[in-house]
Amino acid sequence: TVRVRFAPSPTGMFHVGGARSALQNWIYAKQQGGVFVLRIEDTDAARNKPEWTEGILSALEWIGIERTSYEGPHFQSENAHEHRAAAQRLYESGRAYYCDCTREDVQARTGSQHSGYDGYHRDRGLGPGEGRALRFRTPDEGETVVVDLIRGEPTFENKLIEDFVIARGDGSPVFLLANVVDDMIMGITHVIRAEEHLPNTPKQQLLWAALGAEPPIWAHVPVVVNEKRQKLSKRRDKVALEAYRDEGYLADAMRNYLMLLGWAPSGDREIVPWSVIEEEFRLESVNPSPAFFDEKKLRAFNGEYIRALPADGFVAACQPWLTGTSTIAPPPWQPDEFDPAVFAAVAPLAQTRIAVLSEIVPNVDFLFLATPTIDEAAWAKAMKEGSAELLDAAISAFEALPSWEAEAIKAALEAVGAERGLKLGKAQAPVRVAVTGRTVGLPLFESLEVLGRDRALTRLRAARV
Ligand code: GLU
Repeated sequence: TVRVRFAPSPTGMFHVGGARSALQNWIYAKQQGGVFVLRIEDTDAARNKPEWTEGILSALEWIGIERTSYEGPHFQSENAHEHRAAAQRLYESGRAYYCDCTREDVQARTGSQHSGYDGYHRDRGLGPGEGRALRFRTPDEGETVVVDLIRGEPTFENKLIEDFVIARGDGSPVFLLANVVDDMIMGITHVIRAEEHLPNTPKQQLLWAALGAEPPIWAHVPVVVNEKRQKLSKRRDKVALEAYRDEGYLADAMRNYLMLLGWAPSGDREIVPWSVIEEEFRLESVNPSPAFFDEKKLRAFNGEYIRALPADGFVAACQPWLTGTSTIAPPPWQPDEFDPAVFAAVAPLAQTRIAVLSEIVPNVDFLFLATPTIDEAAWAKAMKEGSAELLDAAISAFEALPSWEAEAIKAALEAVGAERGLKLGKAQAPVRVAVTGRTVGLPLFESLEVLGRDRALTRLRAARV
């Protein structure tokens, strides 16, 4: 049976590129009736933290890879003994040798800063010892052909592959070897991972052969890049899946978007139900070129997914931003200022206007704060000549309304504006700023209705002093 694995290192927030690879592995396993194995590559003790592991599990769960749907998590550190045994086996069989050269030694011999290892200790018979690295003896002839579902058969000349280190001077096996040994132990048949690892693959395939096993089939999925075609990086770009989640991207939108990195469903469609993706996705048709992670497009996607939610689903989805969670900051209002019924009344107005759920807060805060936070710039912009007088007229007109309903409020303000030769849009601006604190927001008259006449008038009067 097909066995794939996702093998993240728990050294930081969970990268969107990793999430993409995880989904591709997971779908492939599902399509093949195979098994998805989660392996946490936790051998870099200095950089690992248990909370990163927990973060990976919960991020996977968030995008739909539930804990019950995979084997594991296994931990690479649990196999440390096997990694050492494999290194020892390679040494004993003559496939690896010890070397105590420093980088400077090699440079002095080759006269170049860039050349790889020159094979100096290949046949010098140096035994094991403190500070001696174990190097794999790569073949001098022939080539290593990688069978890759996405890239065909990338071929590497063996003589260009240096005798690389498989265990450090302190005896600890390096990633290249540990990763191969784990894949062997776990019976992995297909390695689906990021393109960044392709340069490792011929080395790893040589290790598979030297350890007497049939290498897996590989699929190196495209590197994910930003708008400048640079590889997405923690330092430069927003890459953490958790950051998107906490900003209010919907998991369904996110996973749909991630699957479009290098692939598309049939029929010119981009936004499709997950079931269609599970059915149509083919690793073989993933485009090998770098995939552009277009945050603007993702945002637009998310807006569409938000609009497609049922009304109560939208209200439920907003809850974390209305109340705060361990990772989402609490809103600016006090818990007892919040009124779920009021929120439910305006939610449909907001649903069509926001692209990420966190934007719900600035759209509705005027309803729950005792006094709206006035944006000074907005205020200066809206309070032009004549605005004070217009607000006075609006106050009188609003006081005189027989009923407080959006349509009536609108008609009243329209009349006030018309008397002053102002279109509704112009007449609205100072009222909106006085009541909501902002120049843009939900439709004004519905907002005023929901806010209630007393609160609206209080704010309009306050704007006049
Ligand atoms: N721990 C490696 C990484 O996160 C895994 C590489 C692989 O999938 O083989 O990049």
